[in-house]
Amino acid sequence: MSLEPVDVLIIGAGASGSAIAWSLVETRMKILCLEQGDWVNPLDYPSTGRDWEARSFKDFSINPNRRKLNADYPVNDKNSPISVANYNAVGGSTILYNAHYPRFHPSDFRVRSLDGVADDWPIDYETLEPFYDENDRMVGVSGLAGDTAYPPKEPQMPPVPLGLSGTTLAQGFNSMGWHWWPSDAAIATEDYDGRAKCINLGACLSGCAQGAKATPDITYWPHAIRAGVEVRTNARVREIGINDDGMANGAYYYDEDGVEQFQPVEVVVMACNGVGTPRILLNSVSDRFPDGLGNSSGLLGKNFMFHPYGLVRGVFDEPMDGNAGPGVCIWSQEFYETDINRGFVRGFTYECNRGAGPVSTALTGMLRGQIPVGQGFHDAFLKLDRRTTGMVGICEDLPEEHNQVTLDPELKDSHGIPAPKIDYTLSENSKKMLDFVVERGSEVLTAAGAKEIYSETPISVGGWHLMGTARMGTDPDRSVVNEWGRSHDVKNLFVVDGSIFVTSAGVNPTRTIQALALYVGDSIKKRLANLFD
Ligand SMILES: Cc1cc2nc3c(=O)[nH]c(=O)nc-3n(C[C@H](O)[C@H](O)[C@H](O)COP(=O)(O)OP(=O)(O)OC[C@H]3O[C@@H](n4cnc5c(N)ncnc54)[C@H](O)[C@@H]3O)c2cc1C
Ligand code: SF4
Repeated sequence: MSLEPVDVLIIGAGASGSAIAWSLVETRMKILCLEQGDWVNPLDYPSTGRDWEARSFKDFSINPNRRKLNADYPVNDKNSPISVANYNAVGGSTILYNAHYPRFHPSDFRVRSLDGVADDWPIDYETLEPFYDENDRMVGVSGLAGDTAYPPKEPQMPPVPLGLSGTTLAQGFNSMGWHWWPSDAAIATEDYDGRAKCINLGACLSGCAQGAKATPDITYWPHAIRAGVEVRTNARVREIGINDDGMANGAYYYDEDGVEQFQPVEVVVMACNGVGTPRILLNSVSDRFPDGLGNSSGLLGKNFMFHPYGLVRGVFDEPMDGNAGPGVCIWSQEFYETDINRGFVRGFTYECNRGAGPVSTALTGMLRGQIPVGQGFHDAFLKLDRRTTGMVGICEDLPEEHNQVTLDPELKDSHGIPAPKIDYTLSENSKKMLDFVVERGSEVLTAAGAKEIYSETPISVGGWHLMGTARMGTDPDRSVVNEWGRSHDVKNLFVVDGSIFVTSAGVNPTRTIQALALYVGDSIKKRLANLFD
């Protein structure tokens, strides 16, 4: 027996799904979101207890293969130097995100024109700008106007504190004569839209019990639900069905009791992120689409991009912030645009992260051989604890078809749905950029007074950003969705998550993912009368 039909079915209640749900409420269509996870109760966040760091290795790990909660699906990422990080719940991966919230630069949409690599986006910064602004108002962004690296933009709130770490690193950048600016953060530094302001607890990566960190369960969803949208949780979608005309007609999913259901629908919006979306579309096979729904280009799941990250940290004699305060403080975009004298194209942002908590400091210190086990432990630990700070370089990853998400032939989730398999290699361009990240970062840290410097490239656990697997474009042979997120093959199928990115830029993606979701929502609203012509 099938369920009562709805007009719009959004799959995935994370950053993108929540934004498009809110965007579409004014149409008064019947909107349903299916989410495989549940609501997360902030009282259960690790930040409410003393074991908050220990839990980041267990039920609040960023790695679904370690976490293994009911809502999670396994990911085979053995053939990748970087492992996938996510979270599956209302709010999606933002429940664990660091809320570092930069916009793309205008140049990011034109890399083929500027540098002869990858492809230009079918839209530009100006197209997205009003949706960036709208999203910023919904999310509440803290920052400081006037950053010369960007076109003008007005943050809603003052920036997060620079702290001891930010001030020290800023002095290092000043000594080198290089750009730095207080980071834009999706963190309320003043009470905002019913949310309390940040109290610098510093546990942002394991959920913000204060409600200062902007996650969709406390930003978009309350507004969308009040306006009539239904979020159905513990509902894991297996595949999208099609009718004889080749249109999507609904989703097959397992409800909270594990019973298979069919949800009939007029319009399907995929918002399961850059790994989850290709997984479900590749699993939706039919005579008409034997290689996956909307995959006539053969590009579904291909051109998968992470951001390769390089970490550079210094140990100082003076006290730094440790984990006190939001992880983000300042950024530098000195090396953002291409300079071929550096030996690579495109560039990166330095995100300066304050420091770590005591458990992480001890564990990583022992792993790196900086802290001995047994005698000498305490002295070595005290030299590192709240005396370490530095940055990560988030490198622009360029799309390559051999980097891909496919369906694993053997591994399955608890409902028997094939798990995603990742095949990913670092490009020569990325390797050179990562080396450069470490060399220049070490110079900044030395100038700031660091006594000892260490690095890691790429950060092996750093698969936080999942992009490119259902890319946008005007040419159906070279892209999966068109310039407003609609499948070239299936006119009532849309994708709004990071899958539709054409290139990755050298900044964190979520502000752009959410602006794009609002843009796709707006495009749908403008065409409502003849959506499927
Ligand atoms: C540890 C960590 C730190 C990060 N830090 C930052 C940062 O500082 N700045 C930044 O910009 N980004 C950051 N990110 C990335 C950010 O969280 C993502 O870019 C963003 O959440 C992606 O939004 P999305 O809507 O594409 O997917 P998600 O937010 O991942 O949401 C996808 C949702 O779809 C659901 N879903 C998937 N498959 C199915 C299915 N079959 N059936 C039903 N539901 C399904 C999932 O359960 C999930 O809730 C971080 C991520 C992690 C993990
Ligand atoms: S530092 Fe601020 S945003 Fe981060 S967890 Fe604490 S209160 Fe929340």
